[in-house]
Amino acid sequence: PTVFDIQRIRADFPLLSRTVHGKPLVYFDNANTSQKPLPVIEAMNEHYREHNANVSRAVHQLGEEATAAYEGARDKLARFINAPSRNELVLTSGTTQATNLVAYSYALPRLQPGDAILTTVMEHHANIVPWQLVAQRSGATVKAAPIDQRGELILEQYVAMLTPEVKLACVSQVSNVLGTVNPVREIARECRKRGIALLVDGSQAVPHRPVDVQALGCDFYALTGHKMLGPTGTGALWARREHLDAMPPFFGGGEMIREVRFDGTSFAEAPHKFEAGTPNIAGFVGLSAAIDYYQSVGFEAIHAWEQQLLAYATERLREIPGLRIIGEAAEKEPVISFLIDGTQATDLATLLDLQGVAVRSGHHCAHPLMQFFGVPSTLRASLAFYNTREEVDAFIVALLKVRKLLM
Ligand code: PMP
Repeated sequence: PTVFDIQRIRADFPLLSRTVHGKPLVYFDNANTSQKPLPVIEAMNEHYREHNANVSRAVHQLGEEATAAYEGARDKLARFINAPSRNELVLTSGTTQATNLVAYSYALPRLQPGDAILTTVMEHHANIVPWQLVAQRSGATVKAAPIDQRGELILEQYVAMLTPEVKLACVSQVSNVLGTVNPVREIARECRKRGIALLVDGSQAVPHRPVDVQALGCDFYALTGHKMLGPTGTGALWARREHLDAMPPFFGGGEMIREVRFDGTSFAEAPHKFEAGTPNIAGFVGLSAAIDYYQSVGFEAIHAWEQQLLAYATERLREIPGLRIIGEAAEKEPVISFLIDGTQATDLATLLDLQGVAVRSGHHCAHPLMQFFGVPSTLRASLAFYNTREEVDAFIVALLKVRKLLM
């Protein structure tokens, strides 16, 4: 079994040892964005110091180095999620660009008045709003599959809503608010039976578990790099080759063409057809290093440690009078949303910050989920494998203190 050397891991994340308002930082806002280990920071630094050039356009040495690094990131990401081919991986600025690409290039050309896109009540706005925008343009509708009070998707209802009008089904693998792990394989199986393409929002899954898009059986998989130790402005869309070949380009410009003529431009093959303009080259260099970092630690060890932290934090939170946890699914990643009677989430978060504790308060870009639970916002503590039990203890001490101030 892998020995989890938490102190060695923490030493790789320089930011974790800083103070905030004179207190040691407790960073529990990992679902928002993760911190970055030194190998990621150094890889980007080295790229700009030694290899910087644009990709694909130059025959000179630096151009070749930059292209090799950027295309190397595509290879690494493809292997990371077990994509059957590197050419099925479109590099994007994040999940939001990935879902919008599917909305405009896949969904919009297929949607007729009366058609529908199926999503769920627990989705992030990035997996709701793009569908609403293309539905409005085409006369289609967006339907949302329900969840229960524990914050679990009601699978039978999702399946029952996979009617013939549905041209695209969507679901997150892990909820950014509740931590719920959704039954994506089962959903994918039902979608395939009905010939409906399935998009999985993997933003909150890739930081915590090994992902295998072929085993999941979906058609599209969207991810964002900055939640998985990588830089902001990186992400990807994996899509089955048949879909990418059938999809028209979304952005036009350089790098995505075969030949441009005023009497008819022809486009490059996927994935380049979807990557107009100069990409975030240094960002993908950093993301490559992030993937190496995950692999050096290993998801088995990460999962075991995070599940221990989740159980411990949940148990400690339950000791606090008047505290209500929102989302108690049987299978969760280390994300805990909660409220404390008689207090506002934003007040708690503001006072926690003065104690050095970074958590998020608000609607977490999930208005429909807040409406379902009948709350305007929640406080969310989201953990990563570089967090510790001692930090959970410090968080609980701070929470008890600020609760007292507000009561
Ligand atoms: N989906 C989920 C589940 C998320 O948690 C997030 C980020 N909060 C997104 C989509 C959007 O990711 P990005 O802002 O990096 O595009």
